[in-house]
Amino acid sequence: MKIKSLLFGISIILSLGFITPIDNTVYVCGKSEIYHNSKKHSALGRCKSGIKEMKESEAKKAGKRICKCKY
Ligand SMILES: [Zn+2]
Repeated sequence: MKIKSLLFGISIILSLGFITPIDNTVYVCGKSEIYHNSKKHSALGRCKSGIKEMKESEAKKAGKRICKCKY
């Protein structure tokens, strides 16, 4: 019985791992409404108000849109 409950616990942990979506780190220039998938984007290179790192889910919650850059 003990082994069974242990396996049950492990399977819960594994399934939680699968349910959690991958939350990419994205980059936002200052208070821009656009977020970038890559820090290398030239718009960020020109950014003077500071580059903020955040999770993609946070950026979406804040109503930001993804940049069309494909880096
Ligand atoms: Zn970009």
